[in-house]
Amino acid sequence: FYFLSYSQNSGYLEKLKTMASMEACYQGFDPVAYLHYNYTPPRADFEGRSSIVPWKLSCLHKAFTEGEGDILVDVGSGPTLYQVMSGCERFDRVILSDFLEVNRRELQSWLQEGKSSIDWTAYFKYVCELEGQKATRLRSVVSDVVPVDVHQSFPLSPEFLHPSGADCLVSSFCLESVSHDLLSFNHALDNISSLLKKGGYLLLIGALGESFYMGAPGLYIPVVPLDESQVCASLKASGYELLQLCIYHLPPDMKVGVDDVTGVFFAKAKKT
Ligand code: SAM
Repeated sequence: FYFLSYSQNSGYLEKLKTMASMEACYQGFDPVAYLHYNYTPPRADFEGRSSIVPWKLSCLHKAFTEGEGDILVDVGSGPTLYQVMSGCERFDRVILSDFLEVNRRELQSWLQEGKSSIDWTAYFKYVCELEGQKATRLRSVVSDVVPVDVHQSFPLSPEFLHPSGADCLVSSFCLESVSHDLLSFNHALDNISSLLKKGGYLLLIGALGESFYMGAPGLYIPVVPLDESQVCASLKASGYELLQLCIYHLPPDMKVGVDDVTGVFFAKAKKT
C-alpha cells in the first residue's frame, strides 16, 4: 500500500505520474477475490436486515421505478451485475463498461455462457421479488461490454455511444476508487457527465470515509475519502440537481477487513 498525493499546484507531469500509479494499482485487480470480499455474506446476506447489498438493491429498485429511456450506461461496472438488475427493465439498451479486460471478460462470461465467479441467483431472486423475471431480460438488453476510462473527457468510444449521450448513467464505487484526490474525482465526474443527455439522470453509488479497499489478496487500492457534503458539492459543481441522497452507515458486522469504508451514499441527480 502506498500513499499518493497530488496538490492543485502540482504540474502536469506530476498529475500524469499519479494517474499512472493509479492505473498500475489496478493491474493486480482480481475480479474473483473482489466479488468474494464484497458480494458474498455477510455483505450480501438477503435474510439479514442490515446487510449492505439488499440496501443497495432496494435503492436502485426505487430509483429505477421512476426513470426509463433508450440507453443506460453503467460506468466502471467491474465484475458486478447487481447495479443494472433493476435498470434493465426500464431501458431498451444497457452498456456495461470497465477499464480492465479481466472485468469485462467476467461480465461477458455470464452474458454469453451463464458462467460467473459468484452465483448471482440470490440477487436475481431478491430483485425479482421486488420486480419479476430478470436474468433473461438482462441478457437481452446488454448490447455491449466496453472499455471505459473516466479520466478521459469522453470516457467511452463514440462507436458505442452517440455523442448526444445516454438517458441515464449508473456508476457504483468507481469514481472515488480510481481517483487520487478530490480534484481528480471532480474531473472524473465532469468527464462521465459528457456521456449523459441534458435532463438525463445519474445514479451514483459510492463509499464514504474510505481510504483503501482490497482489489486482490495483499493489493490495497487507495480511495478518495469522501464525506456527504463533498458529494453534494461535487454534483452541484458538475451541473446536477440533487434529487435524492440516502446514506447507509456501516454496522460493525459489515466491517469485514477488506476496506475501511464507514458509509455508502446513493445519489439520484438530474443533469441540468
Ligand atoms: N461497479 C463495481 C461495484 O459496484 O462493485 C466495481 C467497482 S470497483 C471498486 C472500481 C472499478 O473501476 C474496477 O472495476 C476498475 O477496473 C474500474 N476502473 C479502474 N480504473 C478506471 C478508469 N480509469 N475508468 C473507469 N473505471 C476504472
